[in-house]
Amino acid sequence: MNAREAILAIDAGTSSTRAAVVTANGLVTCLHRRPLPTHSPRSGVVEQNAALIWQQTLTVCRAALHQARQKGLRIRAIGLCNQRASAVLWDTASGRPLAPALAWQDSRHAADLSALAPHWDPRLRHRLGRPVGSRSPYLWAARLLRSHPAVARAWERGQLGFGSIDTWLLWQLSGRRLLATSATNATACNAYVLAHHAYALDWLDALDFPPALLPALYQDADDYGSSDAKVLGAVLPIRACAGDQLAAAIGQGCLEAGQALCQHGTGSFIDVLVGPRAAPAALDGERSGSVVVTARRQNDVSHFALESYSATTGAVLAWACQRQRWFPDARRLLALAGSVESAGGVSFVPALAGLQAPQRSSTARAALQGLSLATGRAEVAHALVEGIAQVVAACVSANAEAAGLPLSQVMTGGTLATSDLLLQMQADLTGVPACRTHQAAHASLRGIAYLAGSHGLLWDDLSHACARTRLQAVFKPRIDSGERARRRALWQARLCAELEHGWPEG
Ligand code: ADP
Repeated sequence: MNAREAILAIDAGTSSTRAAVVTANGLVTCLHRRPLPTHSPRSGVVEQNAALIWQQTLTVCRAALHQARQKGLRIRAIGLCNQRASAVLWDTASGRPLAPALAWQDSRHAADLSALAPHWDPRLRHRLGRPVGSRSPYLWAARLLRSHPAVARAWERGQLGFGSIDTWLLWQLSGRRLLATSATNATACNAYVLAHHAYALDWLDALDFPPALLPALYQDADDYGSSDAKVLGAVLPIRACAGDQLAAAIGQGCLEAGQALCQHGTGSFIDVLVGPRAAPAALDGERSGSVVVTARRQNDVSHFALESYSATTGAVLAWACQRQRWFPDARRLLALAGSVESAGGVSFVPALAGLQAPQRSSTARAALQGLSLATGRAEVAHALVEGIAQVVAACVSANAEAAGLPLSQVMTGGTLATSDLLLQMQADLTGVPACRTHQAAHASLRGIAYLAGSHGLLWDDLSHACARTRLQAVFKPRIDSGERARRRALWQARLCAELEHGWPEG
């Protein structure tokens, strides 16, 4: 291992695009970041600008490479991780996106998909590890093929590109040559047969999606060719591509069955690794908030995880600060939340884009309840953070139940994991210690670098790479089980009241 050798790691997230250099001793350095807006013109619709995603990726990569050169670091390979299940349609001749990118939080097709569910759920559940769901990039593309003139024209001329954010960025990085996606990214798009590493063509046919548009399926650790010299100023091998949460799992050292992690970014994702055999329990029961995903695929072997998530956690803080202007920024919101002992009876359900756990509902919406004349901004801030911890606790319970094993600890990363307050609340409400690694906010960057640099490039294998990850803090539960049950039951009762009441559209 040469200390001057390193990997260029890219994380094309929902809230920002980041690039950094990860050194052979596992340090994230030369970090550059650009914020990324999401647009929500109406309830259930969430979009992003794909051209901006690429521009910002290019900017942060060039800046990180420049800094690495100045530091005398030698870049051996590139690893790319990204927000999953968002999709882009573009013109392969001009390189321009043809429509706003579909964001993974978008549920505009929920009603159409639930109409297909009674017939398709029983066929798909065990193959895809999840029910039909409320989102599908394939249905989105199929609809635009028929309704959007520019998309239809590009398709007729044989110059239509389609794929998730990884496909879009790999195509650009490779000098507009490669159309590919990785196992962990395909999993999230909901037409990927877990056990066979293949597309579910019958389901795609039912969605009217033409198979000719499918990007080629690769493993997460794979030979993705090289970056084009004209793009990054260097020909660098691209050796890994993965969904951001699953890259973070590696960055947190979660490789083996039974290990659990929570990645707190725009949304919070909780994964429990179950090894190379998918756990069927997760597939049963309408009320289970868990799905099975590919955690990583390398050397022709897939490892699986049970996953549960809340789509809007960091997004709640951004919404409260940027959209509502209730607080100047997330840092000060968190400080204010920590300035009071409790929310004074206020509670919050962070369902700004539906709910997955403790119950699936694409039409559920957020609720702030229990306001009184005594409620100040600090109590509201406290309730927002507590609501995030509550929904995370519901996700952890759903996963532990589906996995059939008690969790001994949850490794915690992502930008929100820098908050001691959130991690303490999470430990209190789950009853499971929350562990934070060093540079926790950058766990996904570290993980994708580990994946790209294993196989002898910088490290012998993943466990050799993960030995570099160090623990920074452990948050142990501070309340007893009676108090935990009381707090969770109160929140769930309020949630149930909201769900029963419903959120009529309009
Ligand atoms: P993603 O990978 O999904 O893009 P990030 O890990 O970059 O997500 O986290 C983005 C979220 O972090 C935003 O939604 C924002 O609300 C939150 N955030 C921003 N600044 C802070 C902060 N100082 N402390 C905690 N959370 C923050």
